[in-house]
Amino acid sequence: MENMLKGKVALITGAGRGIGRVIAEQFIADGATVYANDVNEFEIDRAKIICFDVTDTNALKAALMSIYKAEGRIDVVVNNAAIIANQKLGMVTKPLLEKMYNVNVFAVIDMIQIASRLMARNGGGCFVNIASVTGVVGSPGQVAYSASKGAVIALTKSSAKELAHLGIRVNAVAPGVIKTERFEELYEASGDKIDLRIGRIALGRLGTSQDIAYAVSFLASDRASYISGHVLGVDGCASI
Ligand code: NAP
Repeated sequence: MENMLKGKVALITGAGRGIGRVIAEQFIADGATVYANDVNEFEIDRAKIICFDVTDTNALKAALMSIYKAEGRIDVVVNNAAIIANQKLGMVTKPLLEKMYNVNVFAVIDMIQIASRLMARNGGGCFVNIASVTGVVGSPGQVAYSASKGAVIALTKSSAKELAHLGIRVNAVAPGVIKTERFEELYEASGDKIDLRIGRIALGRLGTSQDIAYAVSFLASDRASYISGHVLGVDGCASI
């Protein structure tokens, strides 16, 4: 599988830590030229770091143009950046919803809208959007978050249909419970019992960022050239 992404220019959002960071590292290992984004400065060996807030349309546009100017192409965008927050239905507030939807949904649409025009200039490309199993089956205490990820799934399917004629594929990966720093922070705050959580995962363990990175790399590669509008669950067969 080495060099599966050779010759491809990829942008990964929210790559400063967690799943996005491991996706960036996997893409580099698979031979891609990687532009790794986050709001604040960070480092990844052999990645080009490009800091901007995905909700700032002008900054997003400028970043995409600078990649296109430098490389002459953009082949892959992984929309990974997200706000993850747990709140019971009664505690969900409008400001939280707006913040979450700005990052998790509106910025993804913005990115697809702008980057697809640049991809089309080179005959195509692909997007991999990071959704969540919560957007498929729902999750108590995650009404706002799961709704935003449900929207990611719907926009993935619709944009895949709309962009197919330009040679652009759009897929999503829906992770289950993945052991990232963010998960650990939220988990500690919730007081849940980890064994109960693992007990609901048929494969009997939490997922890793590497599990997600392998799936994203496959969907971004030419091996997936006949796959579009698909949501790939990477969740250990979970019922969360
Ligand atoms: P994470 O550690 O919080 O990573 C998200 C990254 O996105 C962070 O580095 C964050 O920066 C960045 N980010 C947030 N807002 C941004 C913005 N406006 N512009 C640019 N970057 C921004 O979370 P993760 O656990 O790795 O999750 C990564 C993805 O997987 C997310 O889409 C999440 O919804 C999805 N997912 C995760 C799990 C899980 O169990 N971990 C399960 C299902 C789906 P800051 O750190 O500065 O906020």
